[in-house]
Amino acid sequence: MHILVVEDEDSIAEPLVNGLRREGFDVSRVATGADALEAAPSDLVLLDLRLPDIDGLDVCRSLRERSRVPIIVVTARGEEADRVVGLELGADDYVVKPYGLRELIARIRAVTRRAAANGSGREPLRIGGLEVDERARRATLDGRELDLTPKEFELLAALARDPGAAVSRQRLLADVWQTTWYGSAKTIDVHVASLRRKLGDPRWIETVRRVGFRLDEP
Ligand code: CA
Repeated sequence: MHILVVEDEDSIAEPLVNGLRREGFDVSRVATGADALEAAPSDLVLLDLRLPDIDGLDVCRSLRERSRVPIIVVTARGEEADRVVGLELGADDYVVKPYGLRELIARIRAVTRRAAANGSGREPLRIGGLEVDERARRATLDGRELDLTPKEFELLAALARDPGAAVSRQRLLADVWQTTWYGSAKTIDVHVASLRRKLGDPRWIETVRRVGFRLDEP
């Protein structure tokens, strides 16, 4: 998998590129928006929004107009508006500086899995009467909207991306809670119990012993 890193600061870009390469990714790095728009197609773009030439949000918009490549935008702490606009312009996710490599890799994997699971990464996921719209962050069951907390929604979406598949607890922790700390496993159980209640039938989410959970139509 080939990642394009768009980052003007060498002190950030160099360890990042090295870290991603160590994880087995193929990485190219450019330092300007103009170079990002001229770069060869990649499988994912990690886009810093503060660039010396073109506003990163314009780069995001232009990339999205020409392709469906997954885009993760990088914002500085406190730049909430950028994050929101980035997502509106078609970015798939964001990370806030300073971020750890582990967190970034979890997000890269989540975004690429999502894009692979439903083609464009933007279409609602449908399993029987359940519809999960990640773009609108809404879930409906038989046309009735489910009243979910943000984490319940993310958990449902993480399971719905691969219906019928056993999804490990580690993967859910990484995707939904951006952690690999196993001590937080109990949190998953609490959220699963609540989701089952809201879905009205516990069989929607089956426990896979010693692995995790599987979502499927009862
Ligand atoms: Ca920058």
